Amino acid sequence: MSDFSITRLNASQNDFDGSLASLLAWDDSVDHQVNESVRHILAQVKARGDAAVLEFTEQFDRLKAGSLADLEMSKERLQQSLEAIPQNQRTALEAAAQRIRDYHERQNQQSWHYQEADGTVLGQKVTPLDRAGLYVPGGKAAYPSSVLMNAIPAKVAGVAEVVMVVPTPDGQVNDMVLAAAAIAGVDRVFTIGGAQAVGALAYGTESIPAVDKIVGPGNIYVATAKREVFGTVGIDMIAGPSEILVICDGQTNPDWIAMDLFSQAEHDEQAQSILISPDKAFLDSVEASIRRLLPTMERADIIAESLKSRGAFIQVADLDEAAEVSNRIAPEHLELSVDDPEALLENIRHAGAVFMGRYTAEALGDYCAGPNHVLPTSGTARFSSPLGVYDFQKRSSIIGFSASGADRMGRVASVLARGEGLTAHARSAEYRIKE
Ligand code: NAD
Repeated sequence: MSDFSITRLNASQNDFDGSLASLLAWDDSVDHQVNESVRHILAQVKARGDAAVLEFTEQFDRLKAGSLADLEMSKERLQQSLEAIPQNQRTALEAAAQRIRDYHERQNQQSWHYQEADGTVLGQKVTPLDRAGLYVPGGKAAYPSSVLMNAIPAKVAGVAEVVMVVPTPDGQVNDMVLAAAAIAGVDRVFTIGGAQAVGALAYGTESIPAVDKIVGPGNIYVATAKREVFGTVGIDMIAGPSEILVICDGQTNPDWIAMDLFSQAEHDEQAQSILISPDKAFLDSVEASIRRLLPTMERADIIAESLKSRGAFIQVADLDEAAEVSNRIAPEHLELSVDDPEALLENIRHAGAVFMGRYTAEALGDYCAGPNHVLPTSGTARFSSPLGVYDFQKRSSIIGFSASGADRMGRVASVLARGEGLTAHARSAEYRIKE
């Protein structure tokens, strides 16, 4: 088992700013080799469609098929998976799906308009995307929760067709993933993955329809491919490693906090778990809990490496300073493990999701609380938001002038257009002016 160690910082130390910056430094530059290989895969898929997808699927996932139609899972096949999984898994997936649906229904945007005194109407029309592509990772592990979190908001938004891709190395289909697709109402499922699946969704092939936007997490090949096809299609985000930041006043059971830190650290070695507290003795207790609990964890080596390379305990003067440091980090997941989380929330400006109070384990948010678990990472919570229904809807501006409105505003447009030297614009507006 790996040795455990964690960086200790104090917000009052002289070099705190520099130490915090190094702790958060994350190199997201794209590896040249990966970039080259993804570009090659995408170009092949664009030029040769199904044939290229089949070849790469055989090469990377060791899955050989005569045609892409053979790799499509029918609605009946999804239903079979739903019936094949143990009853407790089905009940849990259905309970999670219901809560995710209830939450996201509240995000549905409405079209709106207003009328001015002269009859001019202005408004905004909300339209769902025609077709969304959902990437579900499946190289090393299966993620049924990702199916629910990505597909349900699309369906709530009114997307007509959700096309899901999921790699199936060696043809090993995961029933829980397909069952989740059945519950979420995914329309079509193909058992392909990697950059070739992203390319197929972006450009379309003989068997796979081109989509308007691709969402969902994946490894470096998937993330690089999404970056490359952005512009041809929309994408949700490029997600970095998972992060958790816990602010604790020192009154929560230290074992609970240790396990909450583990819950993100176990994702991978680059995941980041940070604990902030004004109570030094409490930080020591959590460290003791980590030492005791770590050997009991199945993924102890990954957790130990993540805590060692990217984890930290930060001591602050008080909870106000804790919130200030947290805002500088802008974490993906933020736990407020304190007596009065609502008061502390007032000071929080940047976080993907905030978990309120000692009983709110972040893990519940990953699966079944209801809000989305696809969240901004690497400090991007400063300017972006969780995946939601609004990612699957777009807005069109609606402008309708009455005759007197055209007269009134045509005069304004004419002056501005002539000021810009655009006479066709000016005359187009002037034709509609009275007299
Ligand atoms: P994946 O589906 O992302 O990738 C598998 C595919 O990678 C294969 O189908 C193959 O086509 C491609 N590939 C592998 N080696 C390749 C090579 N040498 N050249 C070209 N293509 C190659 O599955 P994964 O690998 O298990 O990765 C899943 C990732 O998704 C992990 O990093 C995990 O942390 C992340 N994830 C994130 C979230 C989230 O919400 N942020 C949720 C679940 C998973």
